[in-house]
Amino acid sequence: MTQVRSPATDGQTAGHGEGPDHPKAAIGPNAVLQLIQALDAAGLQPAAAEIFDRAAATEWLAHPPSAMVDERPVAAIHQTVRKLLPPAQATAILEDAGRRTGDYILANRIPKFAQVVLKLMPAKIAARMLTSAISAHSWTFAGSGRFSAKAGKTVTFEIANNPLCAGEHADHQVCVWHASVFQRLFCELVSPYTRVSETACGARGDAACRFVADWTTIPDAANIYAKHRSGPITSPSETMSAH
Ligand SMILES: [Zn+2]
Repeated sequence: MTQVRSPATDGQTAGHGEGPDHPKAAIGPNAVLQLIQALDAAGLQPAAAEIFDRAAATEWLAHPPSAMVDERPVAAIHQTVRKLLPPAQATAILEDAGRRTGDYILANRIPKFAQVVLKLMPAKIAARMLTSAISAHSWTFAGSGRFSAKAGKTVTFEIANNPLCAGEHADHQVCVWHASVFQRLFCELVSPYTRVSETACGARGDAACRFVADWTTIPDAANIYAKHRSGPITSPSETMSAH
């Protein structure tokens, strides 16, 4: 399996990969890029080398992708992180990678004016608007998975056949990266008190991965924690290549 360099860009490409399902089996490059950054920031370069080697994606360490990529090697990388690193460390790395992905989206993908407007809205309305925006771009993070979202008192995101945990088996929810991306966006644009938890997971045998974003029912202590976490991020520029 050496799909790693398959140039799955938005447009047409030479070589393999034709067929109607080709664009759907691709995922945004941040699922790889920001994971490399997170491993790097944690001083885990040797582990990164082994993870990418085991996932047959070594090439990406030297030349990180910049366009949509085949979701399968990305899944292999995420799953190898979970397999190779101690559980707490794997969670921390995937959480950081998700946060960095959120930072990238805030810096490059959501217009500043829209961000100002969202922050002025009541949380419930901002959540609904952000949910629409996320849904419109779900192909960038859900790949071939089937995405749906429901906004109400809380917001529920579902990814059926989530490619990043495809074929994985665990007795707990594993999709920390997705939860962390959603949480970063909600903390910045809806409420700093938002917590996103994965309440069902394909890896656990559930029908879909389900993420609940809740900004209303957090105990006070957790609120303080959430506030601290989202505090320092005020100017989301240059987050991607800063380190
Ligand atoms: Zn999951």
